[in-house]
Amino acid sequence: MDRRELLMVGPLAAAAAAEIEKDVIVHRYWEAADKPALLASIADRVTLVATSGHHGCSADIMEALPKLELIASFGVGYDAVDVAAARRHGIRVTNTPDVLNDCVAEMTLALMLAACHRIPQADRYVRDGLWPSANFPLTPELTGRTVGILGLGRIGKEIARRLQVFKMQVVYHGRHRQEHEPFPYYADLAEMARDVDWLVVIAPGSASTSGIVSRAVMQALGPEGTLVNMARGSLVDEPAMIELLTSGALGGAALDVFANEPEVPAALRALPNVVLSPHQGSATHKTRAAMGATVVANLRAHMRGDPLVSPVA
Ligand code: NDP
Repeated sequence: MDRRELLMVGPLAAAAAAEIEKDVIVHRYWEAADKPALLASIADRVTLVATSGHHGCSADIMEALPKLELIASFGVGYDAVDVAAARRHGIRVTNTPDVLNDCVAEMTLALMLAACHRIPQADRYVRDGLWPSANFPLTPELTGRTVGILGLGRIGKEIARRLQVFKMQVVYHGRHRQEHEPFPYYADLAEMARDVDWLVVIAPGSASTSGIVSRAVMQALGPEGTLVNMARGSLVDEPAMIELLTSGALGGAALDVFANEPEVPAALRALPNVVLSPHQGSATHKTRAAMGATVVANLRAHMRGDPLVSPVA
């Protein structure tokens, strides 16, 4: 039987790409100088797509590949895959949930600790030789403060569990109250923002969450509040955030994701009250390997005709 053919839209973890190449012929979309010509030349043969959470898969690619059956996306967030178009064309979509929960939760704590205790600034302070002339300024602490989680899902729950160990009060907002969770629920995000010291954003990027962390929400969080965005840049009104951080109307921010990453506005990079991270939430050897293995497992399940490991559509 002929080997199946797969379009890889963006680069995947090397080990996962090597596994995929054992099973199928791979065409590398991101490397093609003439992308429409590549799509035209493989249109009657490609039945599979593998892609990263960043590159996703557009409706144009789906329409150019009429035999496409499955899009296997690397990452739990699949907002860059046009899922509505996939549904219209009867194409199945998979992601890589759960295997990254611990890692993203750990990174969230790392950024919160860094922002609270001003660890990047303290590190620079010692390196710059400033310590002998004066002690580093005092900082707040996480202990005893209240944190609101926007999106108490798979990752949000792991973050909540860790924050409890730090003796923080946890509350949450989502579209639904979760009866079996012990944390107080807020139906209104701005109301929650007003009542908390920290707002942790870990809900999916989607039409319903676009701009959900609005100017009003950040104003409610206020000059003593800190915004932590681990989700997607699209959830936050970034220009308003920069303005509020600059004026002090919002106290601080710890950001792993940005509206137009990897570009980060110069105004944001210049602010002293932010901690910035280059979308590192799941970026460890162990977790990226597990995510890659999930992509491969989904592709293989589909090719065998078995149930998909983690379908989203
Ligand atoms: P889940 O689907 O398990 O949880 C999502 C949560 O968001 C749910 O509790 C849901 O609750 C809530 N939610 C969804 N839509 C809305 C809405 N419109 N308004 C308010 N709350 C909403 O997702 P995961 O925990 O697995 O992942 C969350 C996201 O984290 C991913 O989609 C991804 O974008 C991001 N992520 C970022 C990473 C990074 O590297 N920085 C790494 C991994 C993930 P309800 O249904 O009640 O609204």
